[in-house]
Amino acid sequence: MANPFSPCPCSIEHLNSAPQQAWMRFFPWLKPYRCGNCGKSQLLPQRAVERALTSLGSRKLPRRARPKQARVL
Ligand SMILES: [Zn+2]
Repeated sequence: MANPFSPCPCSIEHLNSAPQQAWMRFFPWLKPYRCGNCGKSQLLPQRAVERALTSLGSRKLPRRARPKQARVL
């Protein structure tokens, strides 16, 4: 079984909240997440995830459609 304390290498934006299990109450600062990309369940500090998501959201500006001009040789 994969170690739930190690995050998967996917982007943090794939993380979804997962239902908490009884033993996770021993780690009240950790929150269960499940990656929507690879499906790995992981326990991560909620504050760190929220901070990362906030900085991700502020960095992620709406991308303007940049039509690439076809090169004509
Ligand atoms: Zn993943």
